[in-house]
Amino acid sequence: MSIITLGQVAKILAINLPFQCDFTDSTSVIGITTDTRSIQPGEVFLALQGEHFNGHDFVEQAINQGAIAAIVTPDFAETHFHLPLLPVINPLTAYQKIARWWRDQFQIPIIGVTGSVGKTTTKELIASVLTTQGKVLKTQANYNNEIGVPKTVLQLTTDHDFAVVEMAMRGKGQIAELTQIASPTIGVITNVGTAHIGLLGSEQAIAEAKCELLAEMPKTSLAILNQDQPRLIKTAATLWSGTTITYGLEAGDLRGELIDAQTLRVEGVNLPLPLPGIHNASNFLAALAVLRGIYGWDLSPETLYAPFLEGITVQLPDGRAKRYQWAEDIVILDETYNAGLESMLAALRLLAQTPGKRHIAVLGTMKELGERSLEFHEQVGRTARELNLEGLFILADFEAANALATGAAGLPFVEIVDIQASNAHQQMAEQLKEFIQPGDRILFKASHSVQLNRVVELLSKN
Ligand code: ATP
Ligand code: MG
Repeated sequence: MSIITLGQVAKILAINLPFQCDFTDSTSVIGITTDTRSIQPGEVFLALQGEHFNGHDFVEQAINQGAIAAIVTPDFAETHFHLPLLPVINPLTAYQKIARWWRDQFQIPIIGVTGSVGKTTTKELIASVLTTQGKVLKTQANYNNEIGVPKTVLQLTTDHDFAVVEMAMRGKGQIAELTQIASPTIGVITNVGTAHIGLLGSEQAIAEAKCELLAEMPKTSLAILNQDQPRLIKTAATLWSGTTITYGLEAGDLRGELIDAQTLRVEGVNLPLPLPGIHNASNFLAALAVLRGIYGWDLSPETLYAPFLEGITVQLPDGRAKRYQWAEDIVILDETYNAGLESMLAALRLLAQTPGKRHIAVLGTMKELGERSLEFHEQVGRTARELNLEGLFILADFEAANALATGAAGLPFVEIVDIQASNAHQQMAEQLKEFIQPGDRILFKASHSVQLNRVVELLSKN
């Protein structure tokens, strides 16, 4: 960020420059920051207030470290009139307004990615695919909410050729808000499932919430939709009549066919899959659809897909699709970052397809599923049995554990550790150590708060 001035910031926010300000309308603002730990002289500090922090506590420090001014609430401004402050009713809204203005300075493809699962993975795949064509800005880690999206957008510079922005929600109206900030030229919806159903109420409500992306993005934008998701396609049709590319493993404008576990055939070209699992083949296809969307259908598949013939590398944040050797012929699939119904089923299928002697799942509670929770836990257990796993270890609260075990009844080995028990993680690690033997393939997956990663760490300590 380098071409915005303090006067412009004030204008976007419809306020006057502060009387105490040493700077003028034309002073360049090199960035808007919410974090004093990384503040650079010449930036404007914006005081956000969260559940566990209040940015207003850091305003003095920010100014001392070289911030030109700080965007704060009127209350704070009234009691700190010696500082160069820009008072606004809601600093978060101000942050988003500045981000939107900033976004509008760029005429590059901006890809917004949402969906119940696979957002981060698909965002990373799109970024990897587009990196073969130019410089890509992408959402860092999982900064996908009302703070993360403006943060990402504000990192746009004239160096960038593309931007990929992850958008998440926990309720109605949130994707609409994020779409207004990023104003994507391409909107990707990976799928609609049951994540956060406890908050949204129904699968249809979730589909509608995801499709806010389509309703809010400019009519000239391009929608990229997963054709293998009937509810998504149906809901999208009621909200979007603009240009669309569908992709899918079953059907779609861009259809991918899995030749084997490592190869996806697209438009007659065989491409190595960057990440394991059928669900990741679908995510990769979404990224290729973005490429088609940007370069059009005139380019031959051989030319368009040439950069991917040897494979591409994708670095996912921890706990997603991580596969590593734990000991001689013992492989761990680390999916401990999070879990919901769809991602559990996808990961179990991936486990079952991984060549090895025994297939073992270490699963924990899936959160935020409301009144569907037990039904979904049971379904996961049933899938584990249908896939003929050799063992299931459960680290969950009593009800979820029971539901998982009920579904899995008939599996050769089921072991439950109550998450409430003291040393639950330690206990689980010890049980596993006794059970594991060479030839095992072990999946670890649960909602983030279960902290199943701790069990993996304990195991690694040996
Ligand atoms: P969050 O809402 O936490 O940001 P996300 O939508 O970004 O999640 P990812 O982090 O990409 O999702 O993936 C989370 C997990 O979901 C993965 O570890 C994998 O198990 C599963 N997953 C990824 N893509 C798909 C997909 N297309 N279908 C089903 N499951 C998937
Ligand atoms: Mg994510």
